[in-house]
Amino acid sequence: MQLTNRSQQVNRDPMTLSERLYLPGIAKGLSITLGHVFKKTPTVKYPDEKRPFSPVFRGLHILNRDEEGREKCTACGLCALSCPAEAITMEAAERLPGEEHLYREEKYAAKYEINMLRCIFCGYCEEACPKDAIYLTQSIPPPNYDRETFIYKKDDLLLPAKTAAQERAAEGDPTPLNP
Ligand code: SF4
Ligand code: SF4
Repeated sequence: MQLTNRSQQVNRDPMTLSERLYLPGIAKGLSITLGHVFKKTPTVKYPDEKRPFSPVFRGLHILNRDEEGREKCTACGLCALSCPAEAITMEAAERLPGEEHLYREEKYAAKYEINMLRCIFCGYCEEACPKDAIYLTQSIPPPNYDRETFIYKKDDLLLPAKTAAQERAAEGDPTPLNP
């Protein structure tokens, strides 16, 4: 009984002289191989070679600072709420007197984590943020064998203060950051 219409009749005719010699078949196979040798290879030798990303590529997250180097995130939780992968975890804390130079808002994220193994890099967290505190860069999380390393902590995500200072200096603003 024939279950599909894709079955093929096996050819059981005796082999011809050229088939028995195998040489024409080998020559045909080699010509196909040689044809590919001179073609431009589509393979990229990653990580030595990297393809340029699309301008709209979304990669690793960065927690942003303001022009004075203070953390912008106010731990409102909107990014976590909008995350379809439930990849964001945070704990809010209240800013204490004397910490105004560290945190822009009265509330800040004492803990902020993103599980990059859950993240689908959709960018919803960036869209949802009312404080322009999180954005996705064009870099990708480096590979690792340890799953724990893919849980990015706040220190991994936060833009270093000196980078904010350098950005300001590059824009021609010599005002130093608060200590
Ligand atoms: S990019 Fe998407 S999946 Fe990843 S943390 Fe942001 S909202 Fe969640
Ligand atoms: S990153 Fe933005 S949306 Fe997420 S908690 Fe901080 S301020 Fe709110």
